[in-house]
Amino acid sequence: MGDVNAETVIRTVELTKRFGDVHAVEDLELDVRRGEIYAFLGRNGAGKTTTIRMMLALTRPNRGFVEILGVRMAPNAVRAFERIGSVLENAGSYGNLTVLENLEMQRDLLGLKRNHWVDEVIEMCGLAEYLKRPAGELSLGNRQRLALGRALLHKPEVLILDEPTNGLDPVGIAAIRELLRNLSAERGITVFLSSHILSEVQQLADRIGIIHQGRLIEEIGYDELRQRNRDYLELKLSDTARAAWALEEVCGMRDFAVREEDTIRIFSGFERAEEFNRALVEAGVAISSMRMSEESLEDHFMKLTGGNASQEETGSAMDAEERGKRR
Ligand code: ATP
Repeated sequence: MGDVNAETVIRTVELTKRFGDVHAVEDLELDVRRGEIYAFLGRNGAGKTTTIRMMLALTRPNRGFVEILGVRMAPNAVRAFERIGSVLENAGSYGNLTVLENLEMQRDLLGLKRNHWVDEVIEMCGLAEYLKRPAGELSLGNRQRLALGRALLHKPEVLILDEPTNGLDPVGIAAIRELLRNLSAERGITVFLSSHILSEVQQLADRIGIIHQGRLIEEIGYDELRQRNRDYLELKLSDTARAAWALEEVCGMRDFAVREEDTIRIFSGFERAEEFNRALVEAGVAISSMRMSEESLEDHFMKLTGGNASQEETGSAMDAEERGKRR
């Protein structure tokens, strides 16, 4: 992916929604390309659902617009809706109807022919063994697959999914991931999905857009994001001030950061690890551990979006300190 000339399938322009004082979505500019899986990532309340609702013309923007497959979205944008499948959060199927009945009812509601693609959808979504089960008795993961199946019945070109992996266990998440990957790879379906958990989308998405407080704060390809994360050598030791002195004065090494009371991260010169070790020991610093590590994508996401409440203060203060040091 990442072809700048690829056809744009979903485009948002200056998309803005406010609820009173709450800026739910602010000047959002998205550009989702044909065939890609685009993950829209943000913490709870970041504005994902509001964006998706505006994409589907369920919520009217205060400003800006959404275009899908070249059609400006509005409640009567029939030409576009025929080519879009969507699953909103907690999208219910009829609990007292079986899986098969749910699919058949959806097919009939859409005015599709009797055997139109239902079998393929059952196969694709792995629903064959549950056909006679009431939807209300399905596990969350299977309910999600049924919802996806219903969204796929009219052979959409675009799928828009709000938190499709929410609440699923790792096996359920992997199943949905594989299904979406197949839909994208084998049928060229463009997938736009939201999530608040990076690890659930990082192996799936071709691109990730990070939304925070209604704004798109970063848009990245997975490879690009991975490359951006730097390796480091992490040392747990008894005295960071003394260790910092030894690294700077004895080894002439300044590319490091003090992370916590007992932790130093060194960002380059890994081949000199033994020399660093010796200098520290000679300076009277006790080292309890030394390991190579890589900042995870999760760290990166947390850093961008402020982390969780307990990390908020320490995390950002240290990041500022670290940036200062590394400069
Ligand atoms: P979550 O992952 O929790 O679903 P989200 O990223 O989907 O979060 P939104 O549901 O879009 O976030 O909410 C964005 C902001 O807009 C939040 O502050 C929310 O409280 C507010 N909001 C959303 N819908 C409404 C509404 N109908 N009336 C008032 N405020 C709303």
